Amino acid sequence: MFLENASRDGWIEVVCGSMFSGKTEELIRRLKRAKFANQRVEIFKPRMDVRYSQEEVVSHDSNTIRSTPVDSPGNILIMTSDVDVVGIDEAQFFDMSLVEVCRQLADRGTRVIVAGLDMDYTGQPFGPMPALMATAEYVTKVHAICVRCGNLAHHSHRLLASDKLVVLGEKETYQPICRHCFRIAMAEKRG
Ligand SMILES: [Zn+2]
Repeated sequence: MFLENASRDGWIEVVCGSMFSGKTEELIRRLKRAKFANQRVEIFKPRMDVRYSQEEVVSHDSNTIRSTPVDSPGNILIMTSDVDVVGIDEAQFFDMSLVEVCRQLADRGTRVIVAGLDMDYTGQPFGPMPALMATAEYVTKVHAICVRCGNLAHHSHRLLASDKLVVLGEKETYQPICRHCFRIAMAEKRG
């Protein structure tokens, strides 16, 4: 539980994990709680994430809040001068300038909540997420359940054969799996 900002001191929270770990649901939970306290809330996501809807942050259980797709992190600064809480979803798809944008938002008194994948499908840190985790006051890692063995999962294993870093998709494209099963899956891939 974080102190809601009475003194207009800003800070950065990161919610990260694999696919199907509930990070968007956790982002939405925090934003709805702020909204209930009459704080002004805005949500942004990269324009490229068009799986469901251009207008809404949509989590996998359809618990939705309206959001604004933006082309670059700089747009978020311009659009949030009178906002108390800024939510950013699918943050891994933004470029590194998101780190400086979040710092500026927090410095000017905004609570910033960033949700994103911490690792890509190969198990490497994803885009601006590691730098955001380093500079945030609070980092929450949420976990999925490994579909192969039932342990906690923190990898997003891609089922398609593609070397592109970004392949949007859902259950047919990615599986949450644990460290042990990821190692086996990678060995299977190499043949
Ligand atoms: Zn497993």
